[in-house]
Amino acid sequence: MYKAVILGTGPAGLTAAIYLARANMEPVIIEGPEPGGQLTLTTEVENFPGFEQGILGPELMETMKKQAKRFGAIFKRGLATKVDLKNAPFQVEVDSLGTIETEALLISTGASAKMLGIPGEKELLGKGVSTCATCDGFFFRDKKVIIVGGGDSAMEEATFLTKFAKEVNIVHRRDELRASKIMQDRARANEKITWSMNCTPVSVVSDGMKTSGLEVMNNDTGKKEIIDADGIFIAIGHHPNTGFLKGHLRLDDQGYIIVEPGTTNTSVPGVFACGDVQDHKYRQAITAAGTGCMAAMDCEKYLEGERMIDWSQNMS
Ligand code: NAP
Repeated sequence: MYKAVILGTGPAGLTAAIYLARANMEPVIIEGPEPGGQLTLTTEVENFPGFEQGILGPELMETMKKQAKRFGAIFKRGLATKVDLKNAPFQVEVDSLGTIETEALLISTGASAKMLGIPGEKELLGKGVSTCATCDGFFFRDKKVIIVGGGDSAMEEATFLTKFAKEVNIVHRRDELRASKIMQDRARANEKITWSMNCTPVSVVSDGMKTSGLEVMNNDTGKKEIIDADGIFIAIGHHPNTGFLKGHLRLDDQGYIIVEPGTTNTSVPGVFACGDVQDHKYRQAITAAGTGCMAAMDCEKYLEGERMIDWSQNMS
């Protein structure tokens, strides 16, 4: 049985690992299918304090992992598929390890990109369809690409893609964007960006091998048309990785873990949540790292026997 198990190795999980390892709590960190989290899918990170010239996302995560290992954190690969949180020690089923038991559990499983769920999308993922402009934009030098979405992510990624692509077409299902004004203005001022507003994606079209376009329905006319493109970037938001927690912890209507305000306490004493899995507002590497630190400190107090109040009883 372990003292503390951390699920997830993004900035939240790794920061918690550093703090718990330094406090001699011998944390075990379960590294899921996206080791390092979303930052490993980005290139330059310019807003993480301490790096005047910026740092590559994967490098930042690798450095944090080494830092945690230096203090004795133990890393194991696997995917948590089931939990039993009725009583401590808690049980976590990990596909590669079987059932593990832990006195305290920190959940930092992050959030993943949402998909459109249209024909062709899954099959052509990695063959022209992508959810990460910063990772894959480079492959579309002088090509035509589509960005699907009308939020800040779509605007940001479209603007980023103009560094490589000859044309970036934004496909959005309404005639009004959700993005903030500054991000909209930046995209609108970019000559390489074109717009297909009020168009709902219907299917991803292929030439038999790779993506060749996106079939959309014009919501004004009801007519379908194919927009030719070599690449399609889906930027329609994220969902928290909490499927395995349903019915065991209090989640909000979008599936994010509800924590006691100002702490990382979940509805189960001894279970803590940090990073994007409990934050759909800030979603920054630095805020995730900050809550990772909080979770480690909350966990440390819990393990040292400080009385925990089941705050969820008082929630309306
Ligand atoms: P978002 O704000 O939720 O926007 C998602 C967009 O995708 C919306 O325009 C939505 O359309 C569209 N969409 C969702 N499901 C769809 C579907 N099935 N088919 C077609 N379109 C679909 O997500 P986000 O852009 O990832 O931003 C998330 C948060 O991060 C926001 O708070 C944002 O401000 C923040 N963020 C900030 C920055 C920055 O400041 N640099 C950068 C990126 C993100 P509707 O509008 O019709 O709902």
